[in-house]
Amino acid sequence: MSESLPHAGRLTIDCGALADNWRLLAARAAPAETAAVVKANAYGTGIDIAAPALAKAGCTTFFVAHLSEAARVRAACRNAVIYVLHGLPAGGIAHFAKLQARPVIGSAPELAEWQAQGGGAYALHIDTGMNRLGVRYDGLAEFDIPNGGPALLMTHFVSSELPDLPINAAQRAAFSLARARFPGVPASVSNSSGFFHAERLAAEQYRAGYALYGGNPLPGQPNPMRPVVKLEAPILQVRRVKAGETVGYNQRWTAKRDSLIATVSVGYADGYPRNGANTDMKPGGHGRLGGVLCPFAGNVSMDLITVDVTDAPAGLAERGGWISLIDEVLDVDRVGAACGTIGYEILTSLGARYQRRAIGG
Ligand SMILES: *Cc1c(COP(=O)(O)O)cnc(C)c1O
Repeated sequence: MSESLPHAGRLTIDCGALADNWRLLAARAAPAETAAVVKANAYGTGIDIAAPALAKAGCTTFFVAHLSEAARVRAACRNAVIYVLHGLPAGGIAHFAKLQARPVIGSAPELAEWQAQGGGAYALHIDTGMNRLGVRYDGLAEFDIPNGGPALLMTHFVSSELPDLPINAAQRAAFSLARARFPGVPASVSNSSGFFHAERLAAEQYRAGYALYGGNPLPGQPNPMRPVVKLEAPILQVRRVKAGETVGYNQRWTAKRDSLIATVSVGYADGYPRNGANTDMKPGGHGRLGGVLCPFAGNVSMDLITVDVTDAPAGLAERGGWISLIDEVLDVDRVGAACGTIGYEILTSLGARYQRRAIGG
């Protein structure tokens, strides 16, 4: 079985932590419902792993970006309510019926096509300032809402992780204005950070993505969420490098002392950003061995990363050992920052070559 053959790295998904995170958010949102956003393969954790774990915790509504993702959620959760954020692709209505999925409709042509072909329940996306998808809140007067109306009215925050920015209050006001046109229709708002706003937008449903998977919804403050993802890379070789020698492509890292370098079997082809390189010019990513943070040495290659394990506990840096690249200390926010990006991109880039293992289910 290919499962047991060598692979890039070992990805462990803690379903107990995932369920705890959903419960923490659900308690904050109550009495509003907490829906789970499982787009992008459940933020890299695996729809087939995350969706059933969330359903078991009590989640009944799921959001995905694409119909193909809706199909995977449906296969994993027979009774889930599934919304497709990207709406109705031209000619795609039959797929919604087959999957019992609902589009998040955001334009007049989409709604016209949905209605003309007898589509069922749908959500209407109200754009309150993102200017990306959705019907503008101030354009609803010209918008013809046919009989029945939407099953759900939704909007999305521009900068919910920065609650003091005026755009948040502006979006709350715009959404309240739009809601007045749809008496009795439940509202779905927010993303992870919105669960923690002091001034919360009244809604029947909140949507959580990033925080479910352990990302910090409160940048600059302690993370209230439990880590969900652990990534470990096997050590292929360990070598001694003399002071003054360089490591890796293009001589980007020079040993300042006699050093011990471990080469691990993960690279940018596995979604670890090449920008995580630790060079003579700029700091970069770390691995952890025996609890000790070990800086990368030089470029991140396609399939390999070289790690300076000189300061790791003696005896651990050995062929066949494992260095962790994402864990409770090297959390996704920290790894994102070290690579010049955000934890969201670290999670959603988690590679196809990893062996995924679910624990705590
Ligand atoms: C991705 C997404 C979310 C989830 O956002 P997080 O910040 O990951 O919690 C919620 N709503 C919409 C419309 C989204 O596209």
